[in-house]
Amino acid sequence: MDYRFLGASGLKITEITYGNWLTHGSQIENDTAIACVNAALDAGITTFDTADVYANGAAETVLGQALKSQRRESLEVFTKVYWPVGPKGANDTGLSRKHIMEGINGSLRRLGMDYVDLYQAHRFDHETPLEETIQAFADVVRAGKALYIGVSEWNAQQLREGQALAQSAGFSLVSNQPQYSALWRVIEAEVVPAASELGMSQVVWSPMAQGVLSGKYLPGRPAPAGSRATDEHGGQRNIAGFMDPTVLERVQLLRPIAAELGLKLSQLAIAWVLQNPNVATALVGASRPEQVAENVKASGVAIPPELMKAIDEALGDVVERDPAKTVSPEKRPA
Ligand code: NDP
Repeated sequence: MDYRFLGASGLKITEITYGNWLTHGSQIENDTAIACVNAALDAGITTFDTADVYANGAAETVLGQALKSQRRESLEVFTKVYWPVGPKGANDTGLSRKHIMEGINGSLRRLGMDYVDLYQAHRFDHETPLEETIQAFADVVRAGKALYIGVSEWNAQQLREGQALAQSAGFSLVSNQPQYSALWRVIEAEVVPAASELGMSQVVWSPMAQGVLSGKYLPGRPAPAGSRATDEHGGQRNIAGFMDPTVLERVQLLRPIAAELGLKLSQLAIAWVLQNPNVATALVGASRPEQVAENVKASGVAIPPELMKAIDEALGDVVERDPAKTVSPEKRPA
């Protein structure tokens, strides 16, 4: 498993991170969740991503239990704040000073940890002054509760304004966490150039388009039993945008390209995002330990330029590239 630096910081993270959205505390039982974390550790993954909102706190609790016997110094643990949590009271949401201060304490309690390595703003909060948010993050860092600060799905202008304020408050934003895959490339035009200039990496979510780029969803055929597209706890709703017959047909055209590299489609999808030098890690989910063992083989793979071009030709116009699709809710969600 190869490591990359996170932004312009000195922190090294594994180029494949295990993420637990929709799975821990929800789609899969706790013993399977622990088996997936163990498979990640066995494969050399030391970086783990979660959020307070995943399964309303349960995902952090399960991850904390799965990691509790590990040496803390050998792990990089990421979590996030912004979406409504707990009983969803008026201040249990957003990026106010109050919610950031209470959010970090709640996350640390559920994880059973003294600090997280990366604390991320899970979206941009249009209803809180950016100065207030950045000052609260500075204080979280000074209190030793988070070592580094990042954001998620911020657009280029928000990254620029946030970084300027962070640096005047004495720290730096090191990362942005956007959706990025061969099918969803909206960060390429504006976010990646801005982040590169600002010393920030992308830590990218759904590199496999939630499983669609593994090629297991065949056009016109029922989704495989137990897959995200059949998960009624939320998976089915979240993956729906990619379950379009034309998209599924295009994905099947990637098979000969993967075969030429001796890869499975799942591995090609993860290797594809890692070809972008501004990407520090691919956040990959799994509902079974065998998937983790398969996915980690994408680390260190180089895709030659002619095959990158062949991927573009195979996917054609089903690729989303519109930079305006990087958006945060206008009103803080309640
Ligand atoms: P992926 O695109 O990696 O999809 C993972 C899912 O695909 C798995 O849960 C599994 O679902 C299926 N899968 C995984 N490996 C294989 C395989 N080898 N063959 C076939 N199917 C496979 O990413 P996620 O959508 O899970 O997101 C990854 C992480 O990104 C999250 O855990 C979270 O940490 C982060 N994230 C961040 C967001 C943000 O707003 N910042 C939003 C969303 C995610 P199944 O078996 O059930 O079909």
